[in-house]
Amino acid sequence: MVIVGAGFGGLTVFHHVSSWLGSGEAEVTVIDERETFLVKPSLPEVALGEKEISDITFPLRPVVEAYGRFIRSRVHRIDPKKQLVYLDDEVSVPYDFLVIALGGKKDFEAVPGFQEHGYSVCTDILAPRLHEAIEQFEQGNILIGSAPMLSGTRVKDVPHLETACEGPVGEVAFMIDSELRKRGTRDKARIICFSPAEVFFEDVGDKVHEAFEGLAREHEVEVVTNKVIEKIEKDQVGFKDGSTLSSALTVLIPTYRGPDLITESGLGDEAGFVPTDENFQHLDYENIFAIGDVASRTVPKLGHLAVEQGNLVASLLRQRITRSGERYDYEPEVFCIMNMGHRKATLIRSNVLWGGTTDIAYHSTMSHLMKSSFDTYMAKFKGKMPPQLAQRLLNVYLGRFRK
Ligand SMILES: Cc1cc2nc3c(=O)[nH]c(=O)nc-3n(C[C@H](O)[C@H](O)[C@H](O)COP(=O)(O)OP(=O)(O)OC[C@H]3O[C@@H](n4cnc5c(N)ncnc54)[C@H](O)[C@@H]3O)c2cc1C
Repeated sequence: MVIVGAGFGGLTVFHHVSSWLGSGEAEVTVIDERETFLVKPSLPEVALGEKEISDITFPLRPVVEAYGRFIRSRVHRIDPKKQLVYLDDEVSVPYDFLVIALGGKKDFEAVPGFQEHGYSVCTDILAPRLHEAIEQFEQGNILIGSAPMLSGTRVKDVPHLETACEGPVGEVAFMIDSELRKRGTRDKARIICFSPAEVFFEDVGDKVHEAFEGLAREHEVEVVTNKVIEKIEKDQVGFKDGSTLSSALTVLIPTYRGPDLITESGLGDEAGFVPTDENFQHLDYENIFAIGDVASRTVPKLGHLAVEQGNLVASLLRQRITRSGERYDYEPEVFCIMNMGHRKATLIRSNVLWGGTTDIAYHSTMSHLMKSSFDTYMAKFKGKMPPQLAQRLLNVYLGRFRK
């Protein structure tokens, strides 16, 4: 088995597979261009100076080499007919089963002016750069928002969303609010979130919207919707409807699309994402699975969904390879914890997008504690998720807020 991409999705599959490798029925190779795992949901804390990059990364090689083979290399192409993954220098790695977990391509180039005047929180290079800009910020508008996400048409039964995920937009807005209040300079800035969608946080239901609106009012965070970004200039942002907003600091979650190599390998839809059935098996190749941000079916683009899909695909592979084990019960939901500064956070849990009735926003110091415990667990246990027992306790706890 070959797993390309050792982020949330890929590493989840690896951890499951490593537990049944002893049977001698499989060998696993993990390929990633990075030497370290990056806990992306903690990048906003790096941008606000609460954490260093070294606090939110751990080395991949020792984790993988305890059970399998780790290759640090860029994947350039996949040949699904010859069942080969091509790496740097045209080295090829054969597979019987392939799990594609390469994440999405964040297309910063799609917005002119981003390189010169824009900031972002999405990578381990850009988050520290944003931290410097926040340190130097004196006054003016701070604009934070998403560019539209691309989507293909091969997978019909997934909800259509305009944005990949707006959690980091809200998180960065509230954290900057908290930071400026600490400095005593909050009155010198307007913080404005912009969204290309009709509703900000389009992936959750009315109860979370109401809760978010209340928090935004309390923290004087403004929200404008139906704003598709066109360009970033030195002191303003231009939108496709011809309007502009002045901006002293512009933070962008860029356009998400599938990685170029997926398109070049003939494995993608029109947006470059990998089309799969509901088992995350490629629509054209039964020995290829795709999970996480790279999959067309993953909407919104959330680490929580990548992990849940990893659980499902690992259980299906186990059944196919060892003829044992049970199918994992995959139930998609939005689950994220938005840090808000001042030791407060808002836990959001909603399955309304998939026709469910759970729609909770729980704002408290307890949510903050959960986020920091989760990050510490991830780093200490090298990408393993907290045990099912913790999940069940959380369900009981959150059940109190369901009405
Ligand atoms: C600022 C921010 C905050 C977020 N907050 C949350 C949150 O609170 N909750 C939540 O659930 N989600 C959150 N997310 C989303 C979450 O981080 C992603 O959905 C998740 O990382 C996707 O996991 P993945 O396994 O699909 O891909 P990734 O985690 O992106 O991993 C992909 C891996 O593939 C490797 N790779 C890529 N291309 C190649 C190549 N060509 N060759 C070799 N290796 C390659 C990369 O190095 C990487 O290790 C946040 C994202 C950001 C940016």
